[in-house]
Amino acid sequence: MGEHVATRIDGNAMAAELHARLADEVRELRAAGVRPGLATVLVGEDYPAQAYERRVRRLAEELDCAYVCEHLPGDVELAEALATVGKLNADPRITGILVLRPLPPQVPEVELYRILSPTKDIEAVTPVNAGLLAQGRPRFIPSTPAACFHMLDTYLRSTGRDPATAYDGVNLVLVGRSNNVGKPAVWLGLQRNATVISAHHYTDQAGRLADFTRIADILIVAVGRRGLVTGDMVREGVIAIDVGINPVRDEATGKVRLVGDLDFESVAARAEAISPVPGGVGPMTDIWLLHNTVRAAAMRAHLPHPPEMTL
Ligand code: NAP
Repeated sequence: MGEHVATRIDGNAMAAELHARLADEVRELRAAGVRPGLATVLVGEDYPAQAYERRVRRLAEELDCAYVCEHLPGDVELAEALATVGKLNADPRITGILVLRPLPPQVPEVELYRILSPTKDIEAVTPVNAGLLAQGRPRFIPSTPAACFHMLDTYLRSTGRDPATAYDGVNLVLVGRSNNVGKPAVWLGLQRNATVISAHHYTDQAGRLADFTRIADILIVAVGRRGLVTGDMVREGVIAIDVGINPVRDEATGKVRLVGDLDFESVAARAEAISPVPGGVGPMTDIWLLHNTVRAAAMRAHLPHPPEMTL
């Protein structure tokens, strides 16, 4: 019997395709006199957050969108962080705002989300946009969970399964329940009629994480712990999406490389399909963020906006 080889769900290739579509959409908006604009709020010096900021900056520039990064010191006071968001809410050049995480303890994310303008809240973190998403009628679909489902939908379609019915009743297990990834992924999974299980830190502490990952037909892991899920924790034929980004310093070269939350080799040995890190959810998330920025610009200008690129 030949050795099993899981299909790699290639986020780079999918992102390149969407990049071309998005560039056309931006050209159409520019022709109508509208320029999309993205703002990021970065607090402190977190490595993955800084890397993410650089990537979206480059992408915004490539797509000829306006771009602003408000970089605040790690000891910034809440009032100043709130004032920064308020300034971006009022800035007519900006159509979408991304608050990068993690935030320091004196700046609770919910305080910033409470005052963020919902029409610029492209990550659906404000109470109203999160509520609309939870009810299945989203204004914006947040970029990382959107990326996960776009990758799953595209993979399923490529194997002859119709994403409109392929999730019906299947076990979709999410590990991680943050407001920006895990929870919205629950809502998107329910909308697709999957049987959704949300596992988190307490599941692991109770020694029960593997009980749930093992029954997953589709597994999405978004925690931020290198190698959290290993091959013995998944069933044969699982479709696995790795959201985790963990910087690892190579002792010999001193260079930093990124790895995911899945132990890639051992999970790939059992999986039907798996998304790698890097080259999986990351590039798709970046492109989706810009897609939402463009969508927000069109909505703001009362122009026909690009359709959601997902179900
Ligand atoms: P987060 O806000 O820190 O949330 C982490 C989640 O993981 C929490 O719900 C936590 O549970 C859970 N958790 C922690 N330890 C666990 C364990 N041992 N077993 C099971 N669950 C555990 O992180 P996030 O923003 O969702 O991001 C998660 C990861 O994805 C990070 O590595 C981040 O860098 C990466 N990320 C990647 C992209 C991308 O584009 N590829 C985008 C966003 C995030 P509790 O709620 O119980 O504490």
